[in-house]
Amino acid sequence: MSPEQYIKAHIRTVSDWPEPGVQFRDITPLLSNPRVFRVLIDQFVHRYFDVRPSAIAGLDARGFIIGSVLAYELNVGFVPIRKKGKLPFTTVEESYELEYGSATVEIHTDAVKPGDRVVLIDDLIATGGTMMAGRKLLERLGAEVIEGAAIVDLPELHGSQRLRDSGLPLFTMVSFE
Ligand code: 5GP
Repeated sequence: MSPEQYIKAHIRTVSDWPEPGVQFRDITPLLSNPRVFRVLIDQFVHRYFDVRPSAIAGLDARGFIIGSVLAYELNVGFVPIRKKGKLPFTTVEESYELEYGSATVEIHTDAVKPGDRVVLIDDLIATGGTMMAGRKLLERLGAEVIEGAAIVDLPELHGSQRLRDSGLPLFTMVSFE
């Protein structure tokens, strides 16, 4: 079994959560099994080891779990991009549309500096709105997002395509049609 198949086999699908009609892809079985968690993190480490990013930025909240371990392994800093109202210091914010309503994410203004080369990570790409907002925040602070990365892509929602069309290099490990 390839690492990708092994990882995919440990993602649980929960039907009708958080609302009827949604097939939620639950990554907690990936985290609780130490062997598959190591395989997962190693995939990212091998991809970015020679790239030598300045930092790993993670999207609230599941992007923190994998992003912080990846940053530790690469010996670079970790930058959290949080939902509005959680960061104590000066922030910049970016809002984006959800199916119903909107969401806002924030970053500390001193989290990255101009010229930094950052990998932006989350667990999953659906519409791509969250990752696009995170990328805009990093770019507003003068950093370059050298790649967006996620474990899971949901290609039917076209988010990954939209992100690639906007010029963002994107890496995902598994997809669910
Ligand atoms: P997007 O902004 O691309 O539409 O949604 C992606 C964001 O919503 C990510 O931060 C992700 O954690 C969360 N998300 C949406 N659907 C799912 C899902 O089915 N499984 C998981 N694990 N996260 C999801």
